[in-house]
Amino acid sequence: MPRQLSVSREEIVALLRAGNLTESAIAEQLGVSRPTVASVRKTLGLPAPGKGKAPEYATIEDAFRAHAVPADGGHVEWTGVRTGSDAPMVRYRRDSLSAYRVAFRLHHGRDPEGVVHPTCGQPGCVAGAHLADTPMRQATAQAAKAATRRGPVWVPRAEIVALLREGHSNRYIGRALNTAPRRVGRIRAALGLPTVELRVLPLEEAWRARTRPEGDGHLQWTGTYKEGTPVLTHAGQHYTAYRVAFGFVHDREPVGRIYPGCGVARCVEPTHLEDRTIRQTLSTQLTSIFGSAA
Ligand SMILES: [Zn+2]
Ligand SMILES: [Zn+2]
Repeated sequence: MPRQLSVSREEIVALLRAGNLTESAIAEQLGVSRPTVASVRKTLGLPAPGKGKAPEYATIEDAFRAHAVPADGGHVEWTGVRTGSDAPMVRYRRDSLSAYRVAFRLHHGRDPEGVVHPTCGQPGCVAGAHLADTPMRQATAQAAKAATRRGPVWVPRAEIVALLREGHSNRYIGRALNTAPRRVGRIRAALGLPTVELRVLPLEEAWRARTRPEGDGHLQWTGTYKEGTPVLTHAGQHYTAYRVAFGFVHDREPVGRIYPGCGVARCVEPTHLEDRTIRQTLSTQLTSIFGSAA
């Protein structure tokens, strides 16, 4: 009988829960393969342990301050982890929280509404005073609208050219930039670039092709819905769009139902999606820690 099977799952679980050993260290200690440890960890929905011992912070505020570095112009740079879409995230215990939301709460002393991102023009800035939530941006936009009449949205040719050079199809570029695929086709022809062959896209690309950016950083699902839930069929497999998106941001399995925490119905922006664990963390831990300080 292989050595693998003589080690009980409980032993692996116990060491994973202790949280002070890497997968490799657990594998070595128990004499099992690292993929075995990883598969048990994923089944439990535990985060991947880092190299060596990850720092433990007493509060989310400490976890935030450890990675927030003041820069010129009042901006604050984030040296902590980021999602695939570059959103700064605070790692606290077993969860990842948006650094924007945490910084906003610390500066304004209240929970943000909707989506939070910097409005100072410095991408990724986590200075509390540079962050705005949805009602703040709406107020600014309304003031601007009252002052000027807005013309039609014009997509610069350079943006289309950039995506053409990345090898996307006319349809994809049309969707991504909210412009007519025919215009993309004309620019492609003028540049002498080949048309993109239809092929089976990787799961993430297939998912992205069915989304369209909306104002305020939300992402609309343009694919199909089943009983009100955005769904994706890819290479014969059925997925919910939320579950696929959750995997882009988190290195653990989701717990319970996933839905957008931004309040925009059916928004599939990966960083807006919350599972039961995140909702509990946000509603209990964040409120109790910062609520008492506010
Ligand atoms: Zn800034
Ligand atoms: Zn959203």
